Parts: sequence; C-alpha cells; structure tokens
Amino acid sequence: MRCGDQCPGFRVHGWRKICVHCKCVREEHAVRSVPGQLEKMMTKLVSDFQRHSISDDDSGCASEEYAWVPPGLKPEQVYQYFSCLPEDRVPYVNSPGERYRIKQLLHQLPAHDSEPQYCNSLDEEEKKELRLFSQQRKRENLGRGVVRLFPVTMTGAICQQCGRQICGGDIAVFASRAGHGSCWHPQCFQCASCSELLVDLIYFYQDGQIYCGRHHAERLKPRCQACDEIILADECTEAEGRYWHMKHFCCFECEAALGGQRYIMRESRPYCCSCYESLYAEYCDTCREHIGIDQGQMTYEGQHWHAVESCFCCALCQLPLLGRPFLPRAGLIFCSRSCSLGEDPNNSDSCDSALQSRHAQHNRHCGNSDKCPLHCSGSEWSSYIKWLSSSKRLLLTSSTHSSRKWLRSILA
Ligand SMILES: [Zn+2]
Ligand SMILES: [Zn+2]
Ligand SMILES: [Zn+2]
Ligand SMILES: [Zn+2]
Ligand SMILES: [Zn+2]
Ligand SMILES: [Zn+2]
Ligand SMILES: [Zn+2]
Ligand SMILES: [Zn+2]
Repeated sequence: MRCGDQCPGFRVHGWRKICVHCKCVREEHAVRSVPGQLEKMMTKLVSDFQRHSISDDDSGCASEEYAWVPPGLKPEQVYQYFSCLPEDRVPYVNSPGERYRIKQLLHQLPAHDSEPQYCNSLDEEEKKELRLFSQQRKRENLGRGVVRLFPVTMTGAICQQCGRQICGGDIAVFASRAGHGSCWHPQCFQCASCSELLVDLIYFYQDGQIYCGRHHAERLKPRCQACDEIILADECTEAEGRYWHMKHFCCFECEAALGGQRYIMRESRPYCCSCYESLYAEYCDTCREHIGIDQGQMTYEGQHWHAVESCFCCALCQLPLLGRPFLPRAGLIFCSRSCSLGEDPNNSDSCDSALQSRHAQHNRHCGNSDKCPLHCSGSEWSSYIKWLSSSKRLLLTSSTHSSRKWLRSILA
C-alpha cells in the first residue's frame, strides 16, 4: 500500500515508528495536516533547541506570510534571505515549503534522540544515558546559525560549503561554533551528511563540519534501522553497514527473530526466507515456475528466468544463451535475428547477413569477436544481463558488534 488516498491515516506500529497501513515513516507520510499531539511535540522540541542554542537572538517568530523566519532581520533582509533558497523550500504559510519544513523538523531532530519518553522501552540506565548523551551534544555541538548582511565595508569571505565568494552586501549565515567569521551562503547552510538545508538553521558542529541533529547523533552512536532509536545497549547487530537492536533484527513482515538466521535484505529491511519468497519471489518467463531464493536467476528489463540452459535459451531453437548475447523481441529472447523473425533455424541461410555485419563491426571495435561476444553493444544485441547468483542474494547470519567498539573505531 502506498501513502496518500489509500492509507486511512497514520497509525503507528508498536515499536517501528512507521505507519502500520502503508509502512511510511512519519515524516514521509502524506503530511496533509500535522496532528495536534505531534504539533505540540515539535513546538516543544524546537523551543528546547532554542533554549539551548547559543545564539543570543530571540527565536524566529512566524510572520503572517511565513511559518518561520530567521530572527533579527528587517523585512527586506528576510526577503533577501529567502530569495537565495529554492522556491519550494521557502516556508510560506500553507505551501510545499512549509510542509518541507515540518518534514525536516521531524527528520533532522528526532524527538527520540533527546527525550526518553519518545523511546520504546528504555531501562532506567538507558534513560540516564540518553539524557546525558543529549545534554552533552547540546552543550558541545548544538548551535543556531545567525543570518546577517555581510558588511559592505568588508572585502568578503569564502563560503564554507561551496568555496565561492560572499561579497559585501550579500546575506550570509554565520555559525559561531565553527569559528569567528565562518560563513555560508543561505542555500549552502546544509548538513554535511544528508545535504538538506538545516531546518530553522539548527546545526550540530563536529570536527569542522555542520550536521543536522539526526546525522550528528549517528556520528557518535549507531542508530537502529528498525525502530530509528539510538542504540545505547552494549551490543547490537550489524549487517551491511547498518545497525539494529539485537531484538529488532527481525523479519520486516512476520517479525521472526533473524539473529544467526538466513535472511534477505530488501530496501535495507531484512526478511525471513519464507516471507521474502511469498512477497517478492519471481517467476520464470520460460517454465512459469517460481524461482527459489537458492536458485540462480537471470534478470533483464523486469523479466526473469531460471539460470539454467533449459530456461534461459532461444525461444525458437532452444540454443542455450547463458553467457552469450541475445536478442530480445516482444518479451521473448532469441539467439539470432533469423530466430527472432521466426525463420527456420535449419535453413542453410540462417547465417544471416545482419549478424555477420554486426560481427564485422565488432571486430573493428576490439578485434576479438570470437572471445568476447558480450562486448557487442549494438542497439539490438543486448548483453546487459545480471547474473544474480544465489550466494549474492542470500546473506547468512548477522554478526554481533559491540557498539562501544564501534564508537571507539569511529572516534579513532
Ligand atoms: Zn504512507
Ligand atoms: Zn499510512
Ligand atoms: Zn556557498
Ligand atoms: Zn543530515
Ligand atoms: Zn531498535
Ligand atoms: Zn517473515
Ligand atoms: Zn524456468
Ligand atoms: Zn535460435
């Protein structure tokens, strides 16, 4: 099910922080209106950030026209600031830009990164640790960019992001954590990890870079791919460069535990083999049988075959085509132009001129037409085939890693 008209409304999963109907995360869920409770949570979060923010300006109060404006600017400077941003990022009231802002507030500043009450089931020790983690980040890294007109009397500066000039009279964003005089073009004030504009100019500074809250937290601790919370436990599951709480490394469909089990990853979500087979397994275009997850599979433009000679072969003469160029036509694959035209393959004329000239052409390219048929990249001959071996599709077991070790390795 996709979001929009088909989802009856956001209903949160027991612990995954996604909608049980359409599986979207909250910020990706069709943001038609923000539910009251969520609105309250966001307001609290932002005011929280503002309290801790080292900017001495008052908060950016909304005007009638905009849902948010940078604090301390004259109306014409507000206009100058927003004119630097892409139109669909300007938070005009009731516009795509306002919806973008809400989405980014939820995404860049996850409530569960700072408030234990938004987490699933932390024990007392973990609650304490999360509070400490969040306080420390606010104390040492959090800041809010200040928008100012670059003085006309000054020679200008270099934008920290794009390296281009900021001239006197330009509007620029300053971030005091990054050092006195460090500044950015308004459109360049973005997270070093996700490259999104930093929502409401809230940034976290670390090792010479500015980040959004989400990605700054992830520089310090692993985040669970399933529940989206920071992992505070000593151990977690790691697979394909991502992390899970041990108990959250389970099938996305049936929630069967997958630690030490065979699983298949799809869009960064692990599935048990039987759920994967029933949801996503493909059918062979030749024999119409289901292609098991342990079987080799050939894939071409949305079509699938068993990777065996009897299935992946010329539709007319049954010549095996594994490891050879083939000619797709009307949903079928053929060994030659004559087969694709339905001509009798036993006809002595089957050595047709099109094929010959193709080979001759290829010869001129690499002079090795006998050895490398796969190099033929003519408009008709398709050699783009993907060989998905069973070993590539199936990943066995998940390893357990200490998150502390992980932390040490990233800080080293
Ligand atoms: Zn949805
Ligand atoms: Zn939904
Ligand atoms: Zn720039
Ligand atoms: Zn980011
Ligand atoms: Zn989790
Ligand atoms: Zn399952
Ligand atoms: Zn088959
Ligand atoms: Zn053929």
